[in-house]
Amino acid sequence: MIKSFFIINTQKFVLVLMMLLLAVLMFPEQGKHNVNQLFDIKSTQSISTISKGVSTPMRDMNLLNYQATSSPTLELLSSTKSQAETLLPQKTVYLTFDDGPSKLTDEVLDILKGFNIHATFFVLGEQVKRFPELVTRAVEEGHALGNHSYNHNYEELYKGFSPFWSQIKQTEETIRSVTGLHTSLVRAPGGTAGHFDDTYFTLLKEGGYQVVDWNVDSGDSKRRGVPARDIIKDATTNINNDQVVVLMHDGNGHEETVKALPEIISYYKDKGYKFDVLTPELPKLESFQFKVTKSARALQRPQPNEEWIATNVLPNAALFTHGKRLVMEIGRLETDFKHGEYRIFEGRIMVPLRTMMDKMDVSVKWDVKNKLAVIDMGLNSLQISVATGDWTSNKKETASQTKNVPVQMKGNTLWVPLREILSATGHDPISINVNEEEWRIRAL
Ligand SMILES: [Zn+2]
Repeated sequence: MIKSFFIINTQKFVLVLMMLLLAVLMFPEQGKHNVNQLFDIKSTQSISTISKGVSTPMRDMNLLNYQATSSPTLELLSSTKSQAETLLPQKTVYLTFDDGPSKLTDEVLDILKGFNIHATFFVLGEQVKRFPELVTRAVEEGHALGNHSYNHNYEELYKGFSPFWSQIKQTEETIRSVTGLHTSLVRAPGGTAGHFDDTYFTLLKEGGYQVVDWNVDSGDSKRRGVPARDIIKDATTNINNDQVVVLMHDGNGHEETVKALPEIISYYKDKGYKFDVLTPELPKLESFQFKVTKSARALQRPQPNEEWIATNVLPNAALFTHGKRLVMEIGRLETDFKHGEYRIFEGRIMVPLRTMMDKMDVSVKWDVKNKLAVIDMGLNSLQISVATGDWTSNKKETASQTKNVPVQMKGNTLWVPLREILSATGHDPISINVNEEEWRIRAL
């Protein structure tokens, strides 16, 4: 009797413990800050109404793109675009170059530099080995890299998934040894159509890769020596998409593509397109994939077994999901968020307001009635309305100013864009750098 009583209570005790643990895991801030209940909003008001205005297209998130350039950097943190601007879908063109690097790549890079735009290079491993300095240059100048297999040999690549996989891994290692960076973007030699079956698509995705075909073919590889005027024509005719991925080549023998490039760029510039690099975070990246064809399905290639998938493919995804720290140097203060403590939303770094303010040693209170977060900075104060996203700053002896910056309420936590909260508290961001381990933001 006593014993069973004890067992039941032990079970209860364990259950309660587990629930507590779960609660702490779900609301990590709750345990740390007892004042956090100020944020306990019972209202069921939909958060979507708050973030509805945020339709800014995904900004350049690619670490390759962030290393060298300074202007897109601050855009990452920016959320001050006018409402009108965010509501208009931005036309974007992604220029892509396959089969390089080659002797022609320098010229391509010069042209891109002349126009001050960026592109994506789907490189071959064996060419990276041959011309490491060109890959380094591309990365340093803010371009993105993708993986286009090691040797482009269709017979090897399409006799089954595992040889394809080996070449992707080999190329990845080569890129990494030259640049120190991983890329998860993959373009199939010859495109996926007729080559990829469901196994190729599924396993690459499970391995953490993003496969990208194109929706505009410049036709520069349909045969040898296609003249520049034909390339221009194919790259600029019947363009009816707002998001355009143009296929071009910078491998050997593509001198005509180099000749055609300035005119192709001018065409898209004149049509109001912005130029960007492909990034894994790009929404609807999969819309640039071709569908599996009947002929590819009919190829009856050997399928990798479950054990091979479990050892090779599944653990691979961790390569790309491992978390970066977000380090902030604010004046003399250095502080950080671990991976998972901040988030990236539509190209912006979002941070939990209360934790952020704690790190900066600034007091924040919650006005339950008006659903306002009130940040008290001595002479100045800032009010953020959860319902409207209005940020009102009150400075001593000046009229208050209000601007609209979307925020998000998730559970008990109010998330705000990092750039805005830094600026609003008098710490305008100066620079942002990214490497494999961390984002590093310097602010006034
Ligand atoms: Zn190719």
